Amino acid sequence: MDPEPFRYDSEVPPGEVRHLRYEISETYLGDPVEIPVTVINGEQGGPSVFMTAALHGDELNGVKVMQEVASRYNPADIHGTIVCIHVANVPGYLAQQRYIPIYDLDLNRSFPGRDGANTAERMANQIYRRFVEPCDLGIDFHTSTRNRTTMYHVRADMNRPEVARLARSFGANLILSGEAEASSLRTVATNDGIPTITVEMGRAHRFQPAMVDRALEGVESVLAEYGVLPKKPVSWPGWTRVIDSATDKTWLRADVGGLVEMQYGDVPLVHEGDTICTISDHFKTREKRVSAPFTGLVAGVLQNPVAAPGHPLCHLVSVDDATLREIEREIEAGEFTERPWS
Ligand SMILES: [Zn+2]
Repeated sequence: MDPEPFRYDSEVPPGEVRHLRYEISETYLGDPVEIPVTVINGEQGGPSVFMTAALHGDELNGVKVMQEVASRYNPADIHGTIVCIHVANVPGYLAQQRYIPIYDLDLNRSFPGRDGANTAERMANQIYRRFVEPCDLGIDFHTSTRNRTTMYHVRADMNRPEVARLARSFGANLILSGEAEASSLRTVATNDGIPTITVEMGRAHRFQPAMVDRALEGVESVLAEYGVLPKKPVSWPGWTRVIDSATDKTWLRADVGGLVEMQYGDVPLVHEGDTICTISDHFKTREKRVSAPFTGLVAGVLQNPVAAPGHPLCHLVSVDDATLREIEREIEAGEFTERPWS
């Protein structure tokens, strides 16, 4: 494949790295709102891969992943193009909040966006037309929402073979399969023939180095799979659990109000009947035990320790026997490193 310029509304020729700021909106003062973007166009031809971080402005692990990806690859080694959108939701990022202030618009429910629509849809439209549409596949980095944390996992529609290839090549242990919301970046890009996965990692407002390192390995593995880095190996995580049915996952919710204390051990594996957490009243005269309805992984947990009836406490996903044996072997060998709350 011959190398080609990467075209947005300017172009980056083959063999060049460009760190640019692209205007997608204006502030109240009429100053430009610009997203930082890095385009690394390889000397050799190949697919174009986009990566996005901070579509939700307080989800920072992906911002660190973008900084590292943007600075570690050289056009001489690359077959194709890497496009890093370091911070997509700049107004949310500046305010360190999830949504675009002040109308709380969700940028990740605004794709593909259009001119003449609200602020979020106009911004989404610029991002989408300029930097997503010219690409062949993509990875969108998120974390859990504020007051929760999540295990490192991929979300992808595994019923689509081209998406399943991408999701598996990222090398995460846990894949939650399903369609995303209709106007999310993942859904819109995938429906446009640009297979896209979401990576969920840890919590908002933090850099979590262990997860960032895993994500960098995942990115490299994807680049290897698609021939962007033809000399690198595709990584295999040891075990993969794909959750594709609603019966294999559940949010456990509080039935009483009170103070929540997580009770499971060092690793997010629980067996059926194990106590996951307790909810006690302020006088410590009443304690309600919340136990695991099936053996599985605690894929997400509440971090705020107070709950009212109906509050989500933890997201539990089931594991099959073979996966359970492999996880127990890893725990025994000290190889199981998943610590979503650290
Ligand atoms: Zn998010």
